[in-house]
Amino acid sequence: MSAHPASFPAAPPPVAPPPVAPLRVLPSVDAVLKVELARAATERHGRQATTAAVRTALDERRAALRAGAGGAATPEEIAASALARLDAAAAPSLRPVFNLTGTVLHTNLGRAIFAEEAVEAAVRAMRSAVALEYDLDGGKRGERDDHVRGLVCELTGAEDATLVNNNAAAVLLVLNTLSQGKPAIVSRGELIEIGGAFRMPEIMRRAGAELDEVGTTNRTHARDYRDAIRPETGVILKVHTSNYRIEGFTKEVSPRELAEIAQAGGVPLVNDLGSGTLADLARYGLVHEPTVREAVAEGADVVTFSGDKLLGGPQAGFIVGRRDLIARINKNPMKRALRLDKVRLAAVEATLRLYRDPDRLAARLPTLRYLTRRPEDMAAQAARLKPALAAILGPAFTIDATACRSQIGSGALPLETLEGVGLAIASRDGSGGALNRLADGLRRLPVPVIGRIDDNALVLDLRCLEDEAAFLASVTALEGAHELA
Ligand SMILES: *Cc1c(COP(=O)(O)O)cnc(C)c1O
Repeated sequence: MSAHPASFPAAPPPVAPPPVAPLRVLPSVDAVLKVELARAATERHGRQATTAAVRTALDERRAALRAGAGGAATPEEIAASALARLDAAAAPSLRPVFNLTGTVLHTNLGRAIFAEEAVEAAVRAMRSAVALEYDLDGGKRGERDDHVRGLVCELTGAEDATLVNNNAAAVLLVLNTLSQGKPAIVSRGELIEIGGAFRMPEIMRRAGAELDEVGTTNRTHARDYRDAIRPETGVILKVHTSNYRIEGFTKEVSPRELAEIAQAGGVPLVNDLGSGTLADLARYGLVHEPTVREAVAEGADVVTFSGDKLLGGPQAGFIVGRRDLIARINKNPMKRALRLDKVRLAAVEATLRLYRDPDRLAARLPTLRYLTRRPEDMAAQAARLKPALAAILGPAFTIDATACRSQIGSGALPLETLEGVGLAIASRDGSGGALNRLADGLRRLPVPVIGRIDDNALVLDLRCLEDEAAFLASVTALEGAHELA
C-alpha cells in the first residue's frame, strides 16, 4: 500500500486561536492626539516626538492585548502614557543630587559648588559677548589670562599666572614646556596616582619628560636630588602627596631645601600642590594645608593647583610662578588646547575676588562653609529632620542622629576628618535588603539623595545639606516607602 498522503485521515482543522482581542478597542493615533494631555505633550515636546510616543504607547497596548493582558484603553490613557514617556526621556542626564556622603569635595559628584557670585558671573558670561581677549582700554587684542592674573598674583605672591582646564592639564603643560625630551627629577615617594587615570609617571611620560626617579618609596634625601642633576635636566618636580601619607621611617626633602638645590643646579623647581589653598585654613579652625603663597615663598619656580578642590571654584588648573617660565608655558601650542572658556574664567574671577575678604569667606564660599559647619548646628538640623523623615519612611525603619566623621575629599588632608552629625537609618528587622532598597529608592528620587551604607545603617551626613525644605520635598516623593521593608 502506497503511503499516499490522501490515505491518511484528514488533519484536524487548526485549533482556532483565542478570539483576537478586538484591536478596535484601541483608539486611533489621531483620536489620541486630540485629547488635552496630548496637546500638552505637543506643547512641551513637539509634534513629531509626541506622535511617535503615542504610536509607541499604542503598540505596547496592542502587544499586551495580543498576549491576553490588559483591556481597552481610552485616548486619555494612551496620551498619559505617552506624556510620561516623553517627560522621562526629557529629564536631563546630569542632574542635581543631595551629597550626603560626608565627602565635601566628592570628585564623582562634581567637587566644589560655586559661590553665588561665581554662578552669577558665569551666567552673565554665558548670556553675552564678553571682552575675553579684547583690551577695552586700548581697543586692541588682549589675553584671557589678563582677567585673573592680577588677582592670582595678589593672592599668591607669584610674579605671573596662567590658567588651563584642570590641574592635570597644568602638570602636563608645565612638564611638556620645561622638560620635553629632558630628565625630570622626582622622588619615588611622590609618584602618585589620583583616582583612575591620573598617574604621575604616566603624565610625565605623556608630557615627553624622561622620568628620573630618585630616592626610595619611604626615604628621599637632599643628596639624591643633588646627585641626579645633570646639564640636560629639565626640572625637579615636587608632588604634594595629597591623597595618602607615608608614616614611620620616612624622609622627604622640604620644598625650601629643594628650592635651594634646584637653584644651585640651575634647574627650575615645579611644585604640584594638588589641592593647594589660597586661605590659611587654620584661621577657620581647620588643619593647616599648604597654601599656594607658602609654596611660592619657599622658592618654587612654578606651582600648580586645582580650581575645584579646596579653592572652591570651577574646574580649572592654575599655573603660577616666575614670569619667564610662565611666558614659555604660554608660548607652548598645547596651551591653546588646554585653555579655559569664558564661562569658567568668569566664575574663577568671581571666586578669587571672595578671597579678598577673608572675614566673610566662610559664609560665601560653599566649600569652606560646609567644612566649617558646627556640629551643634548639624545636631539641631538632625533633630528637625528626624520626625519628618520618620513619617515618610514609616515604622519599618529606625532613624537616629549619629556622630559622623566627614572628609574633605579630592585628596586634600586625607587623614583629617571633621566632626559632624548625620542621620543613621536602619531597618527595624535588621535586614540589609530593606536598607539597600531604601538606598536605591533614594537614588531614584527626582533629586536623588546619596548617602553611604555604614555598619548596617544608611548614613545621611548632614554637612552639605543646606536646603532642608528641598530635601524633604524630594524624599516625600519616595514611592511606597512603607513597602520598602
Ligand atoms: C588632584 C591632583 C591633581 C589633579 O588635579 P585635577 O584638578 O583633578 O586635574 C594633580 N596633582 C595632585 C597632587 C592632585 O592632588
